[in-house]
Amino acid sequence: MEPIKTDIVVLGAGPGGYAAAFYAADKGKKVILVEQDRLGGVCLNRGCIPSKALLHATKLIGDASAATAHGITFGAPVLDLAKLRAWKNSILEKLSGGVAALAKARGVEVLRGRGHFENSTTLRVETEAGQKFVSFTKAIIAVGSKPALPKAFDLGNPRIMTSTEALEVEDIPAELLVIGGGYIGMELSTVYARLGSRVTVVEALPTILAGADPDLARPVVRYAGKAFKEIRLNTKVTKMTTAGKQIKVTFDKVEELYDRVLVAVGRSPNCADLGLESTQVALDEKGFIKVNAQQQTADANIYAIGDCAGGLMLAHKASREARVAVDVIAGESAAFQNVIIPAVVFTEPEVAWAGLTEAEAQAKGTPVKIAKFPWSASGRAMTFDATDGLTKLVIDLATERILGVGITGHGAGELIGEGVLAIEMGATAFDLAASVHPHPTLSETLMEAAEVFYGHSTHVFTRKRPE
Ligand code: NAD
Repeated sequence: MEPIKTDIVVLGAGPGGYAAAFYAADKGKKVILVEQDRLGGVCLNRGCIPSKALLHATKLIGDASAATAHGITFGAPVLDLAKLRAWKNSILEKLSGGVAALAKARGVEVLRGRGHFENSTTLRVETEAGQKFVSFTKAIIAVGSKPALPKAFDLGNPRIMTSTEALEVEDIPAELLVIGGGYIGMELSTVYARLGSRVTVVEALPTILAGADPDLARPVVRYAGKAFKEIRLNTKVTKMTTAGKQIKVTFDKVEELYDRVLVAVGRSPNCADLGLESTQVALDEKGFIKVNAQQQTADANIYAIGDCAGGLMLAHKASREARVAVDVIAGESAAFQNVIIPAVVFTEPEVAWAGLTEAEAQAKGTPVKIAKFPWSASGRAMTFDATDGLTKLVIDLATERILGVGITGHGAGELIGEGVLAIEMGATAFDLAASVHPHPTLSETLMEAAEVFYGHSTHVFTRKRPE
C-alpha cells in the first residue's frame, strides 16, 4: 500500500497535539493529526473541561444555601443527574466539534485510528477501514497520560473509579472515599461533597495539595474541614476488596465500608504499545519520553510534548511545548526555557500560583521579600461573601521584581493571569502598586499586596519608576 506522505504527523489530538498541528499548518506545513478517540484529548473529554463544568454546576448548591444568610432563601436542590451529564456532555461535543472545524479550516488531515511507529519515518495507523501508513519527515508525539490505578486497587469493580468514571456522576455515593489529596482528589471531592456525598480523603503525605504553598492551601483545608467528612493525612490504603455493593477498605489495621472509591494518586504516560522500540526514542525510568529543551527525543525525526514528555501535567504547558517543537522543526531557534507555567487548582476556593514560590526562594537562597494581602480586607471579597482568600507576592529584594505570585480565593484562576504577565514582563512591585486597578474588584488585591511591600507609604506613587 502506498503510504500517505506528510511533513509532520502529530500523534494525539489533545491540547498539545492539536495546538502543534494547527501551528504547523499555519506555518505552511502539510500535517496529519492521528487520533484514536474523540478530538480534544483528556483535557477536553475527560479532564479539565468536564470537571470545571461539574464544579460550576455544583457550586450553585453551596451558593444557594449560603444565600439564606443574605436574606434570600431557596428550597432544597432537586438533582437530575442525567440532565447534569447531558449539559456537561453538550459542552464537550461543542468543543470537540470546534477542534474538528479548526483542523478542517487549516487543511489539517485528521486520521482516526491508533498510531504505531514502524520506524523513524513511518507510522502505521489502525483505522476502522484497515491499516494506513503515513510516511513523515517529522513526528510529534502528544499521546498524553492516563490515571494511575495501582494493581492493588484494580479489582475490576466499577465502584472503584478513576477520574474518568467519577466525571460521569452515575450516582451520588453516600460514603465516598477519595485516595489522594492532589489536584484531582480535591477537585472531585468538592463536586461530590456539594452533591451530598460524605467524602473522606486519604493522603499519604502530611498535607493535601502538597505542591501548593501552605498559605494558599489553608483556605481549602478550612473549607474541606467543613464540607468533607474527614481528611486523613499520613494515611495509606493497604487493601481493598469487594463487599457486596460496597468496597471494604483497609487502612493499616482499620477496615471501613464505602459505596464508591475514587483513586486519584497521579497519572502515568501513555507510552506503551506505540512501537517506540522501532525508533530511537528513549524513555525515562517512569516511562515518560525523554526530551531536551527543544522537545526533541533521542530520535532525530521525533519530538514529544505534553504529559507523555514528563514535567508538569498541564494542558497549557503542552500547548506551549507544541509551539516550541513546531518552531524547532521549522528551523527556528526556540526552547522550552524560562517559561512561566501557572497552576490552578479549582477547589473551594481556587488556588493559583505562578513563578517562584516562597519555599522555592528559600531552597534556592534567593533573597526575597514576601508581601501578603488578606482578602478579609477586600471590599469586593466581602460582597462575594468570600473573604477567605490571600494574594501573595514573592519579590526580589534587590530589584523589586515580581518573581512569584500566589492567589487563593474566589476566581483565583482568572486573577493569576495578571501575575503571569507581571513576571514575564519583569514588572516590579512598583509597577503593580502604581497601576490603577478598577474598584471594586478582586484584582485590586494584587495592587494592595504590592503596596504592602512598600509599607503602604504614599511616596511610592510620586517617586520615579525604578530603571
Ligand atoms: P497529584 O500528583 O496532584 O496528587 C496525587 C496525590 O495522591 C499526592 O498528593 C500523593 O501523595 C497521593 N497519593 C499517592 N499514592 C497514594 C496512596 N496510596 N494513598 C494515599 N495517597 C496517595 O495527582 P492527581 O490528583 O491524580 O492529578 C494528576 C495530574 O493531573 C496532576 O499532577 C495535575 O498536573 C493534573 N491535573 C491538573 C488539574 C488542574 O490543572 N486544575 C486538575 C486535575 C489534574
